[in-house]
Amino acid sequence: MRVNINLECTECGDRNYLTSKNRRNNPERLEVMKYCPRLRKVTLHREVKK
Ligand SMILES: [Zn+2]
Repeated sequence: MRVNINLECTECGDRNYLTSKNRRNNPERLEVMKYCPRLRKVTLHREVKK
């Protein structure tokens, strides 16, 4: 049931993280605060399909 997803920076659009989630436990779109190396600060990263 686990699916691979990318986490995309909502400010510059870079896909900085590759992770996976359980679709049954997290059916909605994942949003997490993560460090963006391009902007060199923590920004909101949103799930996008691989
Ligand atoms: Zn960014």
